[in-house]
Amino acid sequence: MKLATKYIHAGTEPDPSTGAIMTPIYQTSTYVQEAPGVNKGYEYARSQNPTRKALEEAYAQIENGKFGLAFSSGVAATDAVIKLLEPGDEVIAANDMYGGTYRLFTKIFEKFGISFRYVDTTNTDNIATVISAKTKLVWIETPTNPLMNITDIKAVAAITKQAGALLCVDNTFASPYLQNPLDLGADIVMHSATKYLGGHSDVIQGCLVMNDATLREKLYFIQKSCGAVPGPMDCFLVLRGIKTLHIRMQRHCENGEKMANFLRNHPKVEKVYWCGFTDHPGYAVASQQMRGFGGMMSFTLKDDSVENARRVLSSTHVFALAESLGGVESLINHPASMTHASIPREERIKNGLSDSLIRLSVGIEDIDDLIADINAAIG
Ligand SMILES: *Cc1c(COP(=O)(O)O)cnc(C)c1O
Repeated sequence: MKLATKYIHAGTEPDPSTGAIMTPIYQTSTYVQEAPGVNKGYEYARSQNPTRKALEEAYAQIENGKFGLAFSSGVAATDAVIKLLEPGDEVIAANDMYGGTYRLFTKIFEKFGISFRYVDTTNTDNIATVISAKTKLVWIETPTNPLMNITDIKAVAAITKQAGALLCVDNTFASPYLQNPLDLGADIVMHSATKYLGGHSDVIQGCLVMNDATLREKLYFIQKSCGAVPGPMDCFLVLRGIKTLHIRMQRHCENGEKMANFLRNHPKVEKVYWCGFTDHPGYAVASQQMRGFGGMMSFTLKDDSVENARRVLSSTHVFALAESLGGVESLINHPASMTHASIPREERIKNGLSDSLIRLSVGIEDIDDLIADINAAIG
């Protein structure tokens, strides 16, 4: 089935009791049983909910996986993956990734005896060099937030398979429309569905998709035991969001390309980070594993002072100054003080995330208005 058809129909069947074409919001905490233990497969809504079930089916289909699981946020989905591990286990993670993932790893899980090694995964040799029998999981993000670095998923999957470790890919930035990590050998795909999947900046949610039934059972056990499940209204919103993913992503890609080229030609712009430029270091890999380059990008100004960056950040009118990304509306963000403030400054600078970096989530408004807005803000 082609993507457009899949996204519109994924997970949704006419409601058996009424024929409602859209999955109802089953706003219930429990289900009445005929006799103790005799039920229709629904016992208590932390464990099962029909709206969530429809969405989990949709998650599986759009990532070409067998099983999907929904969580109350992207970080809750990440949290569930790390809970597969035991004290003494080691995770190899990318040195450039979402700040909240880094915070969860360092501030929460290190104290439970799980160790994390951060390497530059854009060179997969760095993973091959440090992977050992202790390594149970490799965690990558591609493209990365906010520097748009690219990691070769297939190459990493070959390394983790040989070492007997799991590979989890945070696919939030690309969305399933642009990239499907399971097809490239990953074991688990994670999304912050808050971003492109929901697509309308009205819901917080996360998901995991996998092919292995045993892995699914373990992660489902964690989901119901730890309880970070999304409510049915939120599941409904994401189900609806997915139906227009392809249309929105097409426009994000078109607008993204125009904005990236505009910025690159602007005399006051120093550097633009966007993986669709043919001279981007990850371009060859990106064009192999992605179907397009999306609407996320970052840039620095020639006047590299924090004050100048702050001035631009506060001067836009169409772009809203806010954390998050992937919604229909355009957002501008200052990673150093906003989305990535939880990463120590020294660590940030070392990885190339400067104080003056500006990140854009290019939305699906008219590109002429978006370019005029950024142009006026840069001044
Ligand atoms: C937002 C984000 C997350 C965290 O997801 P939440 O839904 O905010 O919990 C994880 N990874 C990436 C790349 C993100 O952008």
